[in-house]
Amino acid sequence: MKIIGPFSQIITMQNLPIKGALQDEQLEIITDGALLIGEGKILANGNLNELQSQYPQAFTELIEEPMVLLPGFIDSHTHICFGGSRSLDYAMRNAGKTYLEIAKAGGGIWSSVQTTRAATEGELLLGIMSRIDRHVKEGVTTIEIKSGYGLSMESELKMLRTIQLAQEHTPATLIPTCLAAHIKPKDFEGDEQQYLNWILLELLPRLQEEKLTSRVDIFIEETAFSKTLSVPFLLAAAAMGFQITVHADQFTAGSSLVAVECNAASADHLEASGETEIAALAASETVATVLPGASLGLGMHFAPARKLLDAGCCVAIASDWNPGSAPQGDLLMQAAMLGAFEKLSAAEVFAGLTFRAAQSLRLEHTGKIVAGFAADLQAYPTKDYRDILYQQGKLKPTKVWVGGEAV
Ligand SMILES: [Zn+2]
Repeated sequence: MKIIGPFSQIITMQNLPIKGALQDEQLEIITDGALLIGEGKILANGNLNELQSQYPQAFTELIEEPMVLLPGFIDSHTHICFGGSRSLDYAMRNAGKTYLEIAKAGGGIWSSVQTTRAATEGELLLGIMSRIDRHVKEGVTTIEIKSGYGLSMESELKMLRTIQLAQEHTPATLIPTCLAAHIKPKDFEGDEQQYLNWILLELLPRLQEEKLTSRVDIFIEETAFSKTLSVPFLLAAAAMGFQITVHADQFTAGSSLVAVECNAASADHLEASGETEIAALAASETVATVLPGASLGLGMHFAPARKLLDAGCCVAIASDWNPGSAPQGDLLMQAAMLGAFEKLSAAEVFAGLTFRAAQSLRLEHTGKIVAGFAADLQAYPTKDYRDILYQQGKLKPTKVWVGGEAV
């Protein structure tokens, strides 16, 4: 057991509703507080002196400067396992080229598939570890990571095995997701329906056998898979025991309704969601995950986070960190930008990065500073939590703990 403290403020994220709008006044703030930690979990919080006298055997990790403590962030949507770069796509897009022109010039998702297929497991591991390490240093202690640049048995297995291997090299919690339904690969002999059947009949049983993932994602969009094909695919994956999630409403509206209909854990993107989609999400258990990093990367408007919250949705904020549309990967900076443009309270932004993101992954004991929860924590060198978003992502945590251990 150990005691960490004192902190100027501990923002516990406790006693907040899982859905809907939040005001900063609702935040529970413990001033000059400390935590008792044991076996990777938070055991108690309170005043430093009181904890020390109650638990005289516990070692104290003294915090010697004013700091604000938050739960570690949860990035519930990333594609950080990939080979190559798409800087040429980025330059072409900013030179006014269309999606189709970029694809014809050899860019787009298919180019990441080719470079990822060509990469060795060792090369993939180096890339993924550099991104994981940066995320952990910036306070992100749980990271979802998708496959989806393999799109063949061999290469999807390679990606998911690399993610599994990465878990041995980081204290952060990694959540792997199969996104073989990203696009139909150009070299698959058959149509979209046959490709989705191949995933269900061949790939997913193999992933279960090797215990590589328990989550399945699909990109529903005019350039990827149709709503009609996606419903039976998602229901079949769910029936196999997979947690399901959807890339929804990124460019055209309607696919979040599929996510709701199939009771997906989350519907992610939502830049194009309209009133119907927002109302359906609000009435469901499906978390509405917004991805400001993709809007910044593509130079397009943000998802309607304000409307989603006001309608009563559970809104999570994730990075979508990927080589094509969201290469930057700074989750806090992206969330701060989203907050400024969408007029979100700090409570709403922090909820979206912590316990509401945990809900999108159906993780139960992470994302709050509460007894029994994982001691995944991050501390910022300031006395006032409002400085964190005020500095728009430039103020970084200077201390991060995963399972109570400093990293
Ligand atoms: Zn994505």
